[in-house]
Amino acid sequence: MSDVDPSELLALCKRRGFIWPSFEIYGGVAGMFDYGPLGCALRNNIVDVWRAIYKGREGFVEIDSETVNPREVFKASGHVDEFSDLITYCKACGAPFRADHLVKGFYDNPDVLSPEELEEAFAEHGIKCPECGGDLGKVEEFNLMFKTTIGPGSSRVGYLRPETAQGIFVNYSNLYRYNREKLPLGVIQTGRGYRNEIAPRQGMIRMREFNMMEVELFVSPEDKDWPRFPEIEGCEITLVPNTTCEPVTMTVGEAVSKGIIANRVLAYFVYTTKQLLERLGIDPQRLRFRQHLADEMAHYAADCWDAEVLLSYGWIEITGIADRGCWDLSRHAEFSGQDLTHFIRFDEPVEMEVERIRAKHKALGPRFKGRAKDIAAAMESKEASDVRDGKLVLQIDGETVELTEEYFEIVRAKEKVAGKRVIPHVIEPSHGLDRIFYSVLEHAYDRDSEEGYTVLRLRPEVAPIKAGVFPLMEKDGMDDIARSIYSKLHASGVESYYDGSGTIGKRYARMDEAGTPFCITVDYQTKEDGTVTIRDRDTKAQRRIPAEDAERVLRALIAGADFASA
Ligand code: AMP
Repeated sequence: MSDVDPSELLALCKRRGFIWPSFEIYGGVAGMFDYGPLGCALRNNIVDVWRAIYKGREGFVEIDSETVNPREVFKASGHVDEFSDLITYCKACGAPFRADHLVKGFYDNPDVLSPEELEEAFAEHGIKCPECGGDLGKVEEFNLMFKTTIGPGSSRVGYLRPETAQGIFVNYSNLYRYNREKLPLGVIQTGRGYRNEIAPRQGMIRMREFNMMEVELFVSPEDKDWPRFPEIEGCEITLVPNTTCEPVTMTVGEAVSKGIIANRVLAYFVYTTKQLLERLGIDPQRLRFRQHLADEMAHYAADCWDAEVLLSYGWIEITGIADRGCWDLSRHAEFSGQDLTHFIRFDEPVEMEVERIRAKHKALGPRFKGRAKDIAAAMESKEASDVRDGKLVLQIDGETVELTEEYFEIVRAKEKVAGKRVIPHVIEPSHGLDRIFYSVLEHAYDRDSEEGYTVLRLRPEVAPIKAGVFPLMEKDGMDDIARSIYSKLHASGVESYYDGSGTIGKRYARMDEAGTPFCITVDYQTKEDGTVTIRDRDTKAQRRIPAEDAERVLRALIAGADFASA
């Protein structure tokens, strides 16, 4: 386990303006944090790297959907019925607890226990209220979604989204059309998720309002490959398969050929997650990919892996990567009555026996009068597979029309068919942004630095401030030159910070603690030859460069160039 004391790190975050406990002047609320100026910048930089990989490299598109959703969305997704943790209240003091957390010491995987099993476990192990020692009450389900109403009155129930993913699924038809009806179709979204956690704890690890970066890749069920797979198939990754539960390092190609990761596209995005996290500054030695145990995996998932990082809290999941099969779109198709399929065109038409819907005009006429013709046409344009439990649901001019077999029949016919409709499968890398943010800080935190003070060794690409700009002293025009370098850098988008107060050593220390990778100092020589010193945080190396080259040199260093030659 890492020896960082999270309370020291959180104190630094507060002091330097990374994060602040929310509503602190009113006593705060557990599990809620505000991002300060440096935190906002670091978080934005993390999002930019994620975006550069998915949008820039892989050609995904980005959307931004609503955070309040009507009940129907989460009824279809299963969150209304299933998205709960088990809660118990102390009978004496009334304190609430997550029931599975109370039995953690006794079971490897307590979150799979039923309410009855948990109650039995309390009795068997003599578990009492951790606050007052009182008896614990019944174990019940507690839905984690925040409930609200949409508009006045209470008739339209809504929920704050517990994940951003559903906003992508409900927009599948729009996205599919936008992508000219082609798969694969990759979509990203970043934004807030809300979960009314019973026991928020461990700082930013379990929050009630948190940030996500979600990726949904729609693929044909018949094509689970990825064109760039050959580029990474020889690369190594540390996996914890659910068969052995032991870490093992192997190549991505081996993991697929041995059937450890279900398919090539999932394996590609497991590896992409590793690339993303390491580029953000996660220590590769403290990163592993753990496969969900059979009883932990959602029943519809073909395979599921968690990226886990070693933090002072132990191994913590920061990203989940799953092959969700056709679950999400099938459910939304079923609940909305909409066609959420993809058309696979055959190389050439094939003669097949097909089932077709035929309208019974004699029954439709008397009921629908003048609309009967339109309804018959709409029925016959549907697929026989759209009939569920003997019923066909149509949307006509904004109205939902439900038809029983009294109004149609299914006939078999031989036809030349051009292709077939399938429900796409979903590959989902779902990143918890706050957990990544905290992990990046913990892995960058060097309390025992040679300097004798805390240094945040943030990678230049994500560091909130790229360069501190100092005059040796605020006199003899050195301050004017430093301010003008600072203004130019700031205006060009290289985030920098002017500091003229205290000794140079103190100013370096302030920048080191804020994670700033480079510092530029203007001295008397600058006035003579126009050069400044640039200092590297991690090696403390210094060199002189022309002041006018500062922006170019910093950009090269941020992109990863060598300090001595940039
Ligand atoms: P899930 O949909 O539960 O797999 O969550 C996706 C990701 O969101 C996880 O890997 C976590 O990094 C993050 N996450 C989930 N719940 C919370 C929470 N309460 N606070 C902060 N991050 C969370």
